[in-house]
Amino acid sequence: MKADSTDRTAPQVGEIVHVACGGHIEFQEDTPWAVYQGAAVAFCTPACKRAFEQDPDPFMAGEIPHPVE
Ligand SMILES: [Zn+2]
Repeated sequence: MKADSTDRTAPQVGEIVHVACGGHIEFQEDTPWAVYQGAAVAFCTPACKRAFEQDPDPFMAGEIPHPVE
């Protein structure tokens, strides 16, 4: 495991993490994620993360459905 302080809140592979659009998933190496209010949140798809990045607060409030590509 590499020591990378920028990834201090990165979930561990295999860890069950909260998904921004609701529910939980098992974190994988390619799971998109970000830090929101100090906590790691994962996304079901890269498009889901992009929608979050454009409007984090409404997205986390459930006001923006995650995109379907
Ligand atoms: Zn989603």
